[in-house]
Amino acid sequence: MRRRPPPSAHRHAWGEKVEGTRPVIPKICNLCEQQGLVKRASLYWAWVNSDGRRRAWKQQICPDCFRSELAELIVKAEDPVLICPACGIGTVDDFDAVYLTYCLPGMPKGQSEFPLCGPCAVVLRNKALKNAQALEDRGATVGGPQPQDITSKQAWADLGYLPSARGNGG
Ligand SMILES: [Zn+2]
Ligand SMILES: [Zn+2]
Repeated sequence: MRRRPPPSAHRHAWGEKVEGTRPVIPKICNLCEQQGLVKRASLYWAWVNSDGRRRAWKQQICPDCFRSELAELIVKAEDPVLICPACGIGTVDDFDAVYLTYCLPGMPKGQSEFPLCGPCAVVLRNKALKNAQALEDRGATVGGPQPQDITSKQAWADLGYLPSARGNGG
């Protein structure tokens, strides 16, 4: 059993304390293009283009965009049944995979594979390309330590990215 955080707890999972002694350079979110002082999440996107080549891009986005655009997708993509995590239709027969490695400040790296339907893949890829930086095609998205699982609904809820998971039957 985990203790429930008090309702007044700060919602930013990685709300950094801003030191007064150094000038703080605002970071710009690649998605909403807002400036902010909290650290960005680093996203490493990859997918295979219709020409068969794997392409990778890097993006840095703010906590709000991560919460609104990705947290739910990541959780839904954990479903063992192949469904489009964006619209929920079955994608067993045909899906457009989009791979995401995400680094949230102060947290272990995570990785997801989205079995998207065609139209949703276009939408998500367009989002992923916004202000993104193309990475060298190396086959691997990022090096370093193995990603860890922070994919359970409750884990995301604990971090404030999703409403607290309540068992809603099933
Ligand atoms: Zn943003
Ligand atoms: Zn879809």
